[in-house]
Amino acid sequence: MDDASYYQALPKAELHLHLDGSVRPKTVLELAAKGGVPVPTQDLERLTDFLEATDSTASLVEYITYFELPIAVLQTVPALERATYELCEDLKKDNVRYAEIRYGPWLHVQQGLSLTDVIRAVLSGWKAGRKSFGLEGGVIVTALRDMPPAQNVSLAQVAGRYVGDGVIGFDLAGDEAGHPPILHEDAFRVARSLGLNITIHAGEAAGPESVRQAISMGAMRIGHGVRAQEDADVIAMIKENGVQLDMAPTSNAQTKAIRRLQDHPLRRFYEQGIKVTISTDSRTVSAVTLTQEYQTVTRVLGCTREEISAMNLQALDGGFADEVTRARLRHEFVDAAAKLRPAAPTG
Ligand SMILES: [Zn+2]
Repeated sequence: MDDASYYQALPKAELHLHLDGSVRPKTVLELAAKGGVPVPTQDLERLTDFLEATDSTASLVEYITYFELPIAVLQTVPALERATYELCEDLKKDNVRYAEIRYGPWLHVQQGLSLTDVIRAVLSGWKAGRKSFGLEGGVIVTALRDMPPAQNVSLAQVAGRYVGDGVIGFDLAGDEAGHPPILHEDAFRVARSLGLNITIHAGEAAGPESVRQAISMGAMRIGHGVRAQEDADVIAMIKENGVQLDMAPTSNAQTKAIRRLQDHPLRRFYEQGIKVTISTDSRTVSAVTLTQEYQTVTRVLGCTREEISAMNLQALDGGFADEVTRARLRHEFVDAAAKLRPAAPTG
């Protein structure tokens, strides 16, 4: 069985997945037409130039510009519901069984929705999608680095009302340069006190110090954490605290967290005993499925199927949704991987 069929057949878990970076291009066009949002072209092929990053994308700041159009069309309840529901369908096609979908509610209030409206709309799309497509997992609410800290505190308060109703975590994302995580300490204190699990983007554009700060703010999982490799003390801190790094190699090469894909530290970290997982980050912006990302990691970084399976199980183990569900899925994943393994030669 070739890698493409093998990884497609493997049931998968994905932890680092942005809703606004994963909207189908066709849906962007349709929602733009409905909402009167200007688009640079009506041609679906050419529209991808405005929605997909490439190898020549220069930085995280440039990468983030590819989210602008999807965000502009995701300003109504039906649009948010639809994008979330369709993402669930795309996950099903990719044979992802456990997913955590994240997004920044403050980005979706430009046409008058309240934070509550936004959070409810995404939860409604998620609940319908998980039911139709047999998914487990939940939704992570993302605070934004360049927002005034007080706005992220109010976001944490609203998100906390939906603990137990699908919201499982609280995150920090956005341009890292000049916006150290520590500015948003209060929001994360509130989020923790309300029972939200903490993950923080760090060590992508900013250096290892951002990873250190994120861990001190209660993050048990770091989004990317690539640049932790520049500081042995931070690596030791990650190991001692059992912190997990949710990495997205294709995206990391596009944002220039690493210069070239073959330089990605994923496998080195794994060999050092650090908990690592693989995600797409953004299915549209990075133009990749998880099945394809597993193939890339095999081809470019030389990870074996066993190593990738272990990282896939790590994603389940480190997931924020309830433990019983994750344990049940773990059995399914292990059984499925065993069935996919070629039978040992007899005689
Ligand atoms: Zn991310």
